[in-house]
Amino acid sequence: MKSIIKFKDLKIEIKRKRIKNLYLKIKNTTGDIFVHAPIWMKEEKIVQFIHKKENWIRGKLDKIEDKTIIEKVNLDSLDYLYVFGDKLEINIKYVDKNPLYLKRRGDILTLYIKSDTSQNRQREIIRTWYRENLMKEIGVLIDKWEKIMNIQIKEFRTKSMKTRWGTCNISKRRIWINLELVKIPKEYLEYVVVHEMTHIFESGHGVEFQKLMDIYYPNWRVKDLELNRYIIEK
Ligand SMILES: [Zn+2]
Repeated sequence: MKSIIKFKDLKIEIKRKRIKNLYLKIKNTTGDIFVHAPIWMKEEKIVQFIHKKENWIRGKLDKIEDKTIIEKVNLDSLDYLYVFGDKLEINIKYVDKNPLYLKRRGDILTLYIKSDTSQNRQREIIRTWYRENLMKEIGVLIDKWEKIMNIQIKEFRTKSMKTRWGTCNISKRRIWINLELVKIPKEYLEYVVVHEMTHIFESGHGVEFQKLMDIYYPNWRVKDLELNRYIIEK
């Protein structure tokens, strides 16, 4: 059972469920507000609950408004791609034999496919191309920062991650970078690479880690804030 309650300027969707307590939820991507309520509860009680939570709700909504939603790698549209901050159109060229691939020349992306290539297969080609491009850039950055920091990274990979931009396995000297970083300006990729490499010296994000970041990447606080305006759509 669903209904909508209006509270001042807010629209709240109420879902009645077989539960004992009220439960409030705000969707991270859209700011939609939901309250799950017990079937038997009077609407008055629900409004009281929303009233009590109003400040929390508004705080959360403010944060969501600051964010820019980036599209996920599983594309719904195959018309264009975001590549390191540029929006590039995809042109399709039909070929009659393999290999099928995507190629960039300047600002033009051309997808070479057969007339019966499925959309899933097209997405796979795009994903592979994204991965290769990101791997190449990460390689260049790691080379650069290995010299500056005087350390060696043994292995790096790109991964689809839902909650993190990168991870570092310190003992294995291995770095994983979120594939989504291929879509936003390169400066953020560099920040994430430096951040993960700094973990080789310091595991946490405490004072020592921050001191090192101040040395290697003095603008890191700004980049961190900016980066967190991009959210990873699930
Ligand atoms: Zn970290």
